[in-house]
Amino acid sequence: MPKAPAIDQQRLLDLQAVDTRLAQLAHRRGTLPEQTELDGLEKERRRSGDMLVAARTLVGDVERQVAKAEADVAQVRDRAARNTKRLESGTGSAKDLQNLQHELESLSRRQGVLEDEELVVMERLEQVQFAAAELTTTDTELAEQIADVTARRDAALAEVAQEETAVLARRQAIVMGIDDALVALYEKVRAPRGGVGAALLRSRRCGGCQLELNASDLAGIRGAASDDVVFCEECGRILVRTEESGL
Ligand SMILES: [Zn+2]
Repeated sequence: MPKAPAIDQQRLLDLQAVDTRLAQLAHRRGTLPEQTELDGLEKERRRSGDMLVAARTLVGDVERQVAKAEADVAQVRDRAARNTKRLESGTGSAKDLQNLQHELESLSRRQGVLEDEELVVMERLEQVQFAAAELTTTDTELAEQIADVTARRDAALAEVAQEETAVLARRQAIVMGIDDALVALYEKVRAPRGGVGAALLRSRRCGGCQLELNASDLAGIRGAASDDVVFCEECGRILVRTEESGL
């Protein structure tokens, strides 16, 4: 049976308390609600960012369609203007003038069709520009939210790190006051037991597994010397005896 001074065994409870706190801090760091919120926002921003890229590409496409429609209208209008000028100058044969007149009528109809088409693409441009502007606003809002949540996440992480530093310093001080072999034994016992290596025996119950010790185990512990290190028969943890143990 390993041996260690009773006072060192009792200090294991302080060591266990700081180790439990360290485990809680590590758990808190890994499960920050701010991080979950941030992950969700970043996912949303990636999705809306993809939509924004697509919307801006579409604006560019429709802008080219508008430019082409404007050029088409201008070309027909210029040609009609040239024809009108020639007609007004009155040069050329009667047949030429008649042909010019026909062409002008045809150009006028063509211009009407092209202007209608131009209106359609201009309306379309307004729609896609509006959609792109809305997505830009969404992106800006998401970026602001992300910055805000990132700041809160970082503050929470800093808080955890600060407490961790303090607890680690306290742990070091506690370990200094405990027999090295007992600390080593505690580490060995606690590793496979969910981080709990030492537990208070209180009112005949193991503080590690919460089971009540049976009469024969209790008798064995009662018979042990105060510097004997005793274990819970159920969970294998070091049982620390104090006045609360009910022995
Ligand atoms: Zn136990």
